[in-house]
Amino acid sequence: MLALHGKGVSNGIAIGRAYVLKRERLKIPEYVVPVPFVEDEVSRFLAAVESTRRELADIRSHIPPDAPVEAASFLDTHLLILNDTMVSEAPIKDIRANQWNAEFALKTQSDRLVAVFEAMEDPYLRNKKTDVAQVVERVLRNLLNPDEREDEPIPDDLNGRVVVANDLAPADAVALKNKGIAAFITNLGGPISHTAILSRSLGIPAIVAVHGATRFIDNDEELIVDGKRGILFVAPDRAVITEYEKRAHKIERLQRELEALRTSEAVSRDGVAVQLLANIELPEDMAGVHQALASGIGLYRTEFLFMNRKMPPDEEEQFAAYVKVILELPGRPVTIRTLDLGADKRADIDLPTASANPALGLRAVRLCLQEVALFKVQLRAILRASAFGSVRLMVPMLSNLDEIARVVELVREVQEELRRNGIDFDPDMPIGGMIEVPAAAVAADLFAAHLDFLSIGTNDLIQYTLAIDRVDDTVNYLYDPLHPSVLRLITMTIDAAVTQGIPVAMCGEMAGDARYTRLLLGLGLREFSMHPSAILEIKKIVRESSVADLKRGAVQVMAARDFRSLQTLVDRMNGDGDSTAAD
Ligand code: PEP
Ligand code: MG
Repeated sequence: MLALHGKGVSNGIAIGRAYVLKRERLKIPEYVVPVPFVEDEVSRFLAAVESTRRELADIRSHIPPDAPVEAASFLDTHLLILNDTMVSEAPIKDIRANQWNAEFALKTQSDRLVAVFEAMEDPYLRNKKTDVAQVVERVLRNLLNPDEREDEPIPDDLNGRVVVANDLAPADAVALKNKGIAAFITNLGGPISHTAILSRSLGIPAIVAVHGATRFIDNDEELIVDGKRGILFVAPDRAVITEYEKRAHKIERLQRELEALRTSEAVSRDGVAVQLLANIELPEDMAGVHQALASGIGLYRTEFLFMNRKMPPDEEEQFAAYVKVILELPGRPVTIRTLDLGADKRADIDLPTASANPALGLRAVRLCLQEVALFKVQLRAILRASAFGSVRLMVPMLSNLDEIARVVELVREVQEELRRNGIDFDPDMPIGGMIEVPAAAVAADLFAAHLDFLSIGTNDLIQYTLAIDRVDDTVNYLYDPLHPSVLRLITMTIDAAVTQGIPVAMCGEMAGDARYTRLLLGLGLREFSMHPSAILEIKKIVRESSVADLKRGAVQVMAARDFRSLQTLVDRMNGDGDSTAAD
């Protein structure tokens, strides 16, 4: 038995036989094309681009209907790269000018593009070089004759197999999911790569950065993938298989138990009712919201409507995207967050967002208050949509009270315009703010006095409090929702809202993480907004809890004098052998 370690990027256990994807490095031929054949070479290149386009479009049209929206958007990114003149036209110039063969012209252009991305400081953009390389590889495979391609065709049926590959493109992950794979392992890759994000959304256990996996593992060899711990067992002993079979059954049993809770109320043993809301990015995410029977939407990340396009969506398009969600949830609240572009969330739209420290720069409400015309279009669309249900408007990244005053002023202006034009809207639409900058948490009482509700964005609150860039892998180890400073800021925010008599929710990742649910209940949080797939697990914890007991536990946690005893007290609140937090 051999145990290999990598970065677990998608939880779950898979036990199955290996399918090693043999994709040797392509041998790129290099030759001079005689002048009379240069135009034929251009046609050959264009034909390969066209075949690649068809292949990607074909994979896109076979995405399973229950697949998350990222599956399509990653393929769209690859189609956009393929359609970009830098990839689909620049090599033609080299073919004509230098009489290069198509493969060499494309490879040279790809190397130039990868070098440009590599030189970028932003890790997200640097990551884009992988997308370019993956698209180029697809075109190269279409250009090369079948006998020059050393990889074998992937069989249609890979049911229950664990795919082992050097690297996988998002399109490959979708295609492999359709062939029934149980998990995948790659030699390369990182936790924020598109393929890693996609594996989580598709529910495929995955480990990346298992260096040498394709060298050490043979086809058909038995494997155990522990996606949570990032461990891969090759030819495991009987005892290890038995242990993992038990763990896998436990996870399945837990999943079935959770399904049974779908229609149960989220009420604690001592009668405290809790709102379990969903975070969504696009109207397409509503399937998961219905599946989990969420109490409403606690965070609609509208910036996703603005991505992968050159022009922002106009008022009608935004209105339609908001109304679609509202109409699907009659009587339930829909919290629409105004545009939170900037920092790691970039759009192709021409906006003044870049700066040396984009997370501290012109992002979110700061950007909206500078781009007032763009912001007013969104406010009009949201206000018009408010006539169709229970809409709450939420402003991200507030750091001072003037921002609230200015947003309210703009909302009133837009309301006046709508009134003049006889267009319906909800005049009482609540206006709330996200508490995700430490300054806003420290002065939460002042913010609460001017807002109708608060929502704690722990992803950014932790980033800004602990000074760790949330997309920088090298400082991820410092990410700690239980840091006493973070817990104090959360407590201050909850207390300020309670004193002011307004609702307070949490919509960062912490709200959907079962390790923190009991503590947050004990601290007084009653509205949790999360990825829909986490709702049933959190509901189970709420139903099993006595909030009165948790309050006592939370008091002790907040009084802890060092990090280790704080963690011990939280573990104690979660109970030994806690099934929800264990796997
Ligand atoms: C947050 O910061 O916690 C949050 C919910 O917003 P986002 O993750 O979209 O920045
Ligand atoms: Mg945020």
